[in-house]
Amino acid sequence: MARYTESVCRLCRREGLKLFLKGDRCYTDKCAFSRRGYAPGQHGQGRKKVSNYGLQLREKQKAKRIYGVLEGQFRKYYKKADRKRGITGENLLKLLEMRFDNVAFRLGYGQSRSEARQLVTHGHFLINGKKVDIPSYEVSINDVISISDKSKASEKFKTFAENPKTLPTWLEGNVENFEGKVVREPSREDIDIPVNETLIVELYSK
Ligand code: SF4
Repeated sequence: MARYTESVCRLCRREGLKLFLKGDRCYTDKCAFSRRGYAPGQHGQGRKKVSNYGLQLREKQKAKRIYGVLEGQFRKYYKKADRKRGITGENLLKLLEMRFDNVAFRLGYGQSRSEARQLVTHGHFLINGKKVDIPSYEVSINDVISISDKSKASEKFKTFAENPKTLPTWLEGNVENFEGKVVREPSREDIDIPVNETLIVELYSK
């Protein structure tokens, strides 16, 4: 599986905002964006004149980077969103939000989506009682996400249980019980990522 392997802090600096890709470190003064809040590279501090295309591209890149999705897969999400009823941009964000790695992250497993993704690929989770280790798996309404018995006993999962996150209202359950449920599809208001999805749609509609 192809994946991004360079420093993720460069991505925040490129996008000009904190994308919170490293969990707790993002909230400390070790954050690279807090230290050097300009784009990486030789011309990172140069004057910038951004075209309309540039703005659209940046929004798309931001969304990809937040959810940890590469270009080909992101384009597939866009096509699927476009085929669905409703507003394409919102459909796109909802599809990304319903990815299994994102749901695991929202449920409180992992400091970042990339950590949650690793937990998924390592086979710690069950969906409706069956092991699922595919981060891009699209969860459905009423799916119950739980943890394998072996993983429940691990120090890592005990730590998650001791530090529960506030769940978004489209998810139910709690990390202390190692169980969560998707109660409805997230609405745009539930998705707290700083992306203007309309610009992404404009980019792909050309
Ligand atoms: Fe971005 Fe977090 Fe790195 Fe800061 S520490 S630059 S928020 S990934």
